[in-house]
Amino acid sequence: MDIDVASLRIIHYPDPRLRKAAKPVESFDAFLPRLAERMFALMRADEGIGLAAPQVGLSLRLFVCNITGEPKDDLVVINPRLSDFGESDQSEEGCLSIPDVRGTFLRYMSCKLSAQDLSGKPFELAGTDLAARCWQHECDHLDGKLILDRFSEADKIANRRKLKQLEADFKAPRGAKA
Ligand code: ZN
Repeated sequence: MDIDVASLRIIHYPDPRLRKAAKPVESFDAFLPRLAERMFALMRADEGIGLAAPQVGLSLRLFVCNITGEPKDDLVVINPRLSDFGESDQSEEGCLSIPDVRGTFLRYMSCKLSAQDLSGKPFELAGTDLAARCWQHECDHLDGKLILDRFSEADKIANRRKLKQLEADFKAPRGAKA
């Protein structure tokens, strides 16, 4: 891909690019490590634990995550598939593409992740709690799903004003573009 990764930014709801199912990664070239590095930087700048390629406007089945904040725990996940789901539990969740909006809903508290790394090599990981939740959140992004789709009516009502503000910002962005 011929994209200047430095120009990538986190896009916000209701940008329609967040609603498209992303395309499988087919070429494991030098672009992917550059993209992943940029995505980790954007994720850390916004204090997130995961970021999916559609959130920077790219239709690719790739996400980065790090649930501990330790550099050694940086994980790049390409063409993921989740399976072997365990019990479900409620927890509060937010999204870097929907700033200041949070909701509480069910996710599986354990699952298996099958994916490819930056070189295209397949790998599998078993995850629980925050890791499992993060993987499900990011895989949702790759399918064009957002946490809003999982919100209860109460969470929709509680976040109504913030969502309206994001919708207004999207139609008429405030401030100059840098
Ligand atoms: Zn998100």
